[in-house]
Amino acid sequence: MILIQDVSKVYSLESGDFYALKNNNVHIKKGEFVAVMGPSGSGKSTLLQLIGGLDQPTSGNMTVDGIRLNNLTEKERTLFRRTRVGFVFQNYQLLPMMTVAENIALSLSANKASKADIHKRVQQLLKDVNLEGKENQFPSQLSGGQQQRVAIARALAMKPKLILADEPTGNLDQKNGKDILQLLSKLNKEEQITIVMVTHDQQAAAAAERMIVIRDGEIVKDRRKGVVGNESMAGSLA
Ligand code: ADP
Repeated sequence: MILIQDVSKVYSLESGDFYALKNNNVHIKKGEFVAVMGPSGSGKSTLLQLIGGLDQPTSGNMTVDGIRLNNLTEKERTLFRRTRVGFVFQNYQLLPMMTVAENIALSLSANKASKADIHKRVQQLLKDVNLEGKENQFPSQLSGGQQQRVAIARALAMKPKLILADEPTGNLDQKNGKDILQLLSKLNKEEQITIVMVTHDQQAAAAAERMIVIRDGEIVKDRRKGVVGNESMAGSLA
């Protein structure tokens, strides 16, 4: 699903080149649920943005869902983001002036789906995320957990095989965070959706089967749960 080969992201600063990511190699297979952890500023969000085609690497190759991202035009990149990847963010990033239904339908509308198809799909998505009957509400009328579920429904609208989540439980209390993780796990197990999730949260990381740790732009650990090894997942965070 995701092949990252020798990928670096370099920012040219007055003080010289700064490597936000340095020569990273990762292979993530279809259906994996991966947590990306590491200290603040280590490059986690940058990695997620490159995978999602929001940004381009300075060097190296990236292939996501069969698409080689390196040489895409801006237009192709936009289409890739809209159709192949679902994004979920810490602060939900819903449009406040739009209803729940309109927020969920954004990419469907952009892809020129018919009104009837949009309505049907939105109803199904509301059901999938347990928000039936909320379609005409505005984001501000919902709890944080509900807003994140709207964001997940929006991410699922185009039936992507990949969800990229940046601290999806970061603004939620324990209970709502747990509900969101359960929803992500269900999508992963039942729909075989590949999930890459940046998180600081141990509870969130525990939902994943694999953990990648980044430090100073480099992947320093890559562990699968249940693999007999010398470190537990929690231990490898130390
Ligand atoms: P994380 O998600 O792990 O907190 P980021 O991926 O957001 O880290 O950032 C990695 C590093 O790259 C940070 O040191 C950050 O300051 C730097 N960085 C991110 N974007 C830019 C930019 N546009 N220009 C310069 N440095 C940047």
